[in-house]
Amino acid sequence: MSKACKSCRLIIETESVCPLCQGTEFTERFNSTAQIFDPTKSEIAAKLGIKAPGRYAIKIKEK
Ligand SMILES: [Zn+2]
Repeated sequence: MSKACKSCRLIIETESVCPLCQGTEFTERFNSTAQIFDPTKSEIAAKLGIKAPGRYAIKIKEK
């Protein structure tokens, strides 16, 4: 099952450490995702502070 990194929101599948920020806290509780191809041209990327291409969780549920 896909999970989202709690610090940078990157979606990963099987890794236990986030390849982007080296974070180790993940959540499966997120509802929408966005594929970012070019962070410099994406409004969503700017809004979420995303700097690298990839698939990200837009909304992470805290509890
Ligand atoms: Zn991360």
